[in-house]
Amino acid sequence: MTTAADEAKVLADVPTGLLIGGTWQDATGGRRFDVLDPSTGSTLVSVADASPEDAVRALDAAVGAQDAWAATAPRTRSDILRRAWEAVQARRDDIALLMTLEMGKPLAESLGEVTYGSEFLRWFSEEAVRITGRYGVNPEGTGRTIVSQHPVGPCYLITPWNFPLAMATRKIAPALAAGCTVVVKPAELTPLTTLYVARLLEEAGLPPGVLNVVPTTTAAAITEPLLADRRLRKLSFTGSTPVGVKLLQQAAGNVLRTSMELGGNAPFVVFDDADVDAAVEGAMLAKFRNIGQACTASNRFLVHEAVADEFADKLTARVQALPIGRGTDEGVRIGPLINEAAVGKAEELVQDAVERGATVRIGGGPIDRPGTFYSPTVLDRVPPGSDILRTEIFGPVVGIARFATEDDAVRLANNTEYGLVSYVYTKDLARGQRMIERLETGMMGLNAGVISNASAPFGGVKQSGIGREGGFEGIHEYLSTKYTMTPSPFA
Ligand code: ADP
Repeated sequence: MTTAADEAKVLADVPTGLLIGGTWQDATGGRRFDVLDPSTGSTLVSVADASPEDAVRALDAAVGAQDAWAATAPRTRSDILRRAWEAVQARRDDIALLMTLEMGKPLAESLGEVTYGSEFLRWFSEEAVRITGRYGVNPEGTGRTIVSQHPVGPCYLITPWNFPLAMATRKIAPALAAGCTVVVKPAELTPLTTLYVARLLEEAGLPPGVLNVVPTTTAAAITEPLLADRRLRKLSFTGSTPVGVKLLQQAAGNVLRTSMELGGNAPFVVFDDADVDAAVEGAMLAKFRNIGQACTASNRFLVHEAVADEFADKLTARVQALPIGRGTDEGVRIGPLINEAAVGKAEELVQDAVERGATVRIGGGPIDRPGTFYSPTVLDRVPPGSDILRTEIFGPVVGIARFATEDDAVRLANNTEYGLVSYVYTKDLARGQRMIERLETGMMGLNAGVISNASAPFGGVKQSGIGREGGFEGIHEYLSTKYTMTPSPFA
């Protein structure tokens, strides 16, 4: 339990200006906007609201800092990221509280995100000094090939609200490690964590202009001139598929490098040979972490008919016991959804499924209390064709559909334009391997309900995105490959 004094202290400590060229500034015309606490609807603090001119000034700063930053010794870049990681560790509790205040997730989950999200700073501090190329002899023996890696140049990073720390560090850390400068546009619903961590990065020794942050209420308006500017070389976006598609169209004009982490519609497949208790445990994590508001959240539970009753009974019992409340309260597992629109969406999806014949095992509607709460819900026997099987729910709603054969499971799982992650529970090794090969997703949890890790290449296929974040792959999103031919020195 945190006190009002703890909350006031951390809020007073957040920089609330735009970070441009190493200074914290007001927005043009002094425009500001309020950041709200979704568990109460009250205003936490107001922050500067960047205009298109402010965004272009931020790009000017990033462009101005690019050459010197690219020429910095990798060890220097590494040390800065490492110091920033240490600074985040030292302020774990404050950053977790800030995330809970602006986003609503339970404090325990925010602490988990501090560990996960800060790890990108440490992981990429280690990758910064391991950017390598290769030297080879061409097959004819007449030439020498040199392959080298170079920073792509100034980047524009757009992040969503659901993981305020991790979504920022997952882009900022590899970009800086690679030698790129950045303009970051955090989600307007949750800009505070990014602003706070940006200051820690500055204090860790980032030169002015390398990291610029422009919160705004007019995302489309500030994005357009940036994507149209030839000096920008890269866009990395995490958010919904429709916005991602629009940004890809805009990015095409300048043939920008892009990394796109878009929506998901994760199947959670439980076979009849699964350890059902383990599957229930995994389902609780895959569904209810972040109050269901994750692109990796399991969206469709496909359960073999022989174990579906047992799975639904056990899951319902677990859901019944979930403590609901403000994320700052002791023991809470389910906080509010991010806003009214999110509650409305959950309501519509549940209503559609019920009208088509789904059974409500538990929950099934908003909770009557201040803030934007929706009750944890389990729907069973969700009929094919229900909207909830096609749409990313982004809320604490389980929809169970039953299948009879492995081929059915694969067909149902792949029956979506998304391809981010799948979860599979089976004790049969060969079946697990078949699922790795047959399910059309960029990631899989095989008897695992949580897959995110800084050392792993996170990303999707189909309309879930392009590119990978984290892992050895993550830094390459911010590097371009150059090939040089030289004659054989023995010619
Ligand atoms: P979500 O449903 O998670 O809010 P969005 O795709 O709407 O997903 O938002 C993700 C991020 O994209 C946020 O930072 C938001 O401000 C930004 N965004 C939304 N629309 C646009 C747009 N037209 N141009 C640029 N950024 C946008």
